[in-house]
Amino acid sequence: IEFEHCGFPSTLIGNLKKAGYEAPTPVQMQMVPVGLIGRDVIASADTGSGKTVAFLLPVVVRALETPPHKACSPVALILTPTRELAIQIERQAKELVIGLPNMRTALLVGGMPLPPQLHRLKSSIKIVIATPGRLIEILKQKALQLHEVRVVVVDEVDTMLKMGFQQQVLEVLEQVAEEHQTLLASATIPAGIEELAARLVRDPVRITI
Ligand code: AMP
Repeated sequence: IEFEHCGFPSTLIGNLKKAGYEAPTPVQMQMVPVGLIGRDVIASADTGSGKTVAFLLPVVVRALETPPHKACSPVALILTPTRELAIQIERQAKELVIGLPNMRTALLVGGMPLPPQLHRLKSSIKIVIATPGRLIEILKQKALQLHEVRVVVVDEVDTMLKMGFQQQVLEVLEQVAEEHQTLLASATIPAGIEELAARLVRDPVRITI
């Protein structure tokens, strides 16, 4: 595939070019078309493969298709194990949505002050990028609701498990409506991940890079 043939709005194609993404990487070639048709995905892809843009493109397209919601009801939820990863994902997401309407992101991560994150949720947010602990803290305060979420990304599932986030990920996903798409990315797919993955995805397409 080429980015020009994915049916993206011209602004998005321009943003890909401006970011220096001339041609899709192998994981993007496989994941983007499958993600765009709404299928669940389990991708074994490591950092450096371009996996972030691979899951962000279907997320951005889905978010664009969905009319603006109330302030605290995002369309897309991206879970990642660490603050550093979350910051990188938000940076790449912002690069892709420049000039697109109603595409605000929120970064909800531990190790940073809570009040500004809560404040951000008072405006209309389309895409939430979060680490599990801080997200649960914010959900408990009812500052955010997940029932409008249509696409969920769980990034670095192997690291999530190593860091003991399995229960927290499941707890978060209990609050997402039944009808949603799930994109999983993991550097490796050991047995423990298969078990968790089976609880998160439906009839997934498997992508191995
Ligand atoms: P990731 O594997 O998501 O951590 O991405 C690794 C790096 O590749 C990031 O710095 C991206 O900005 C960059 N990248 C992602 N997609 C492309 C692409 N299609 N062409 C060139 N660089 C890319």
